[in-house]
Amino acid sequence: MAPTACAPLPAQPVPPPVPPHEPHLPSLAAYHALYARSIADPSAFWRDIADEFTWHSKSNFDPAAGPVHVSFLPDRRTNVAYNALDRWISAGHGARVAFYAEGNEPGRRRVVTYADLADSVARMGNVLRARGVRKGDVVVLYMPMVPELPAAMLACARIGAVHSVVFGGFSSEALAGRIVDSKANVVVVTEAIGRGKKQIQLKAIADRALEIAEAAGHRVEHQIVTKVPGAESVSDEACMVAGRDVDWDEAVREADAECEVEWVESEHPLFVLYTSGSTGKPKGVVHSTGGYMVYAATTFKYTFDYHEGDVFFSTSDCGWITGHSYVTYGPLLNGATQVLYEGVPNYPTPARLWEICEHYGVNQLYTAPTVIRALKGAAPPPQARDGKAEALRVLGTVGEPINPEAWMWYYEVVGARRCAIVDTWWQTETGGHAMTPLPIPGLQMKPGCAMMPFFGIQAALLNGDGAEVEGEGEGLLVIKSGWPAALRTVYGDHGRMEEAYFGRFPGYYMTGDGARRDADGHYWLTGRVDDILNVSGHRIGTAEVESALVLHHAVAEAAVVSVGHAVKGESLYAFVSLMGGVEASGDLRAEIRACVRNEIGAFAAPDAVHWAPALPKTRSGKIMRRILRKIAAGGARTRREDLGDTSTLTDPSVVDALLDTFGK
Ligand code: ATP
Ligand code: MG
Repeated sequence: MAPTACAPLPAQPVPPPVPPHEPHLPSLAAYHALYARSIADPSAFWRDIADEFTWHSKSNFDPAAGPVHVSFLPDRRTNVAYNALDRWISAGHGARVAFYAEGNEPGRRRVVTYADLADSVARMGNVLRARGVRKGDVVVLYMPMVPELPAAMLACARIGAVHSVVFGGFSSEALAGRIVDSKANVVVVTEAIGRGKKQIQLKAIADRALEIAEAAGHRVEHQIVTKVPGAESVSDEACMVAGRDVDWDEAVREADAECEVEWVESEHPLFVLYTSGSTGKPKGVVHSTGGYMVYAATTFKYTFDYHEGDVFFSTSDCGWITGHSYVTYGPLLNGATQVLYEGVPNYPTPARLWEICEHYGVNQLYTAPTVIRALKGAAPPPQARDGKAEALRVLGTVGEPINPEAWMWYYEVVGARRCAIVDTWWQTETGGHAMTPLPIPGLQMKPGCAMMPFFGIQAALLNGDGAEVEGEGEGLLVIKSGWPAALRTVYGDHGRMEEAYFGRFPGYYMTGDGARRDADGHYWLTGRVDDILNVSGHRIGTAEVESALVLHHAVAEAAVVSVGHAVKGESLYAFVSLMGGVEASGDLRAEIRACVRNEIGAFAAPDAVHWAPALPKTRSGKIMRRILRKIAAGGARTRREDLGDTSTLTDPSVVDALLDTFGK
């Protein structure tokens, strides 16, 4: 996305003085000084931060071990749950709110303090131990966004078990695959949950998954079943399988409230989490304890400029890395108070998200471009309505490139021009933010730009031969040295980790994304490397063309892929979803193509515009372009079975609708 395609660059004003505090980064010079130290002497830099946490025995971060073999304070032992909960309670903050839990139905609310959470975590730790779970064992969690989910994650951490959270929207087959892969003996599941208008019977899905796993030769010994107050359930006592299923409430009530902390080595695995599967079969990314803990906490503190008393709200589900690092770990490790929302942003009305922000006085909101685009135009946020929700200071986005138009709406309308926008670029594999603008007073933000590396991240761009691109330029985005939260392995397949991330250019961590560095040294993500197109000798990122397409008022969303072209090498094929009530027509097609021609140039105008009733998205909301590439290449003859793994799609019927709309 070229900066020239955007509106004038807004400067971030000084945040409003309530609550009164100095920003963690009061100036750009403060960022540069810390960044320089994080690169020049990473051991000392991270050791100083790590010393704010509780550890047993000491040693140093050794980045020299190389990116494939990062180890962080390997001789120290720690416990993440202790650092997230007990540390605050012993400092006298047990009564502080950890979660304002907001139910799917408006008005259904629960308040969970640090002391409440620590109590559930300790009892739950004992329930797991009583079922034979020991240090290093994997426990699968299949639960919605209720406080019991972070509690179960922390209970695993407390006893040294490794959690594997499976997003509550996945099918029995997907869940079974992850259970078998990790050989988990214990599964924690929520009985049923309301998500928007739908009631989802999670336990029934999990029961079926356990049958599939058993047929594949792996038997789960224990299933712990939680209930969400208010969710309708079809299952009753009769559905509980004797000897296997346990009621969470009963077990927790009966369990001892004292649970001995398992002090684990810093490099002990904390969790395994599968990537979204946007580009292929999801990878089971494994994160360590100490390095992940320190990095998740530090990125949370600086990126959101979190201060005691602030209320943070991330809409991400704990089924994804964002929910791990910026719901469960980063915020609690900072003693933060946050909103935990069970439902979807537009239920029962599109104003729900804004009502939540207003009700709790949210200071930092963190969401995804897909949510921002969906809400834009649907309901005015409170500022635009009546000047309320003035507490917002930092607005974050994550998951996909944000097109400048959506960015401007987020900045101008939601943030009333006085909030910092932090467009955080990172991956399941990086564990925490790797590049992001930081909320530094006076910083010139650039809509759609990830701007600068976080502390300890040495970003570089490589050309196709593996040579580093200097100065202004474009290339494959790589990271040159180890950072504390780098993934440690791919679960059960270390070879896949070395091959996928370090195989092509040894010594560099390959992100799989492309980027451009501008004259100020700031980074613009251009999309996944697979999605960088080469049309008549012009290199162009899908993100750039999609941003131009959605500038047209009739376009709701767009996805661009390339198809082979005899003359141009590649030609562009656009899938375009129109705003509700807009009729597709030949004139509209011409207008939309003209929009791209004006914004970028004639070479970028798509040869084909396919009217898409909807776009295929992963359950984390990302457009799955590999499926669109196959449809564009195969044309009207494409068969459903040619499309590869579609199990991580939210709504597989979208694909049939696309196959039916050829030539329309
Ligand atoms: P898989 O690796 O299985 O294909 P995935 O890459 O979608 O799945 P995640 O780790 O959830 O899985 O997503 C990370 C990717 O999301 C990044 O590599 C990048 O392509 C995209 N991304 C995340 N945040 C941003 C952002 N702020 N700007 C642009 N792209 C982003
Ligand atoms: Mg990825």
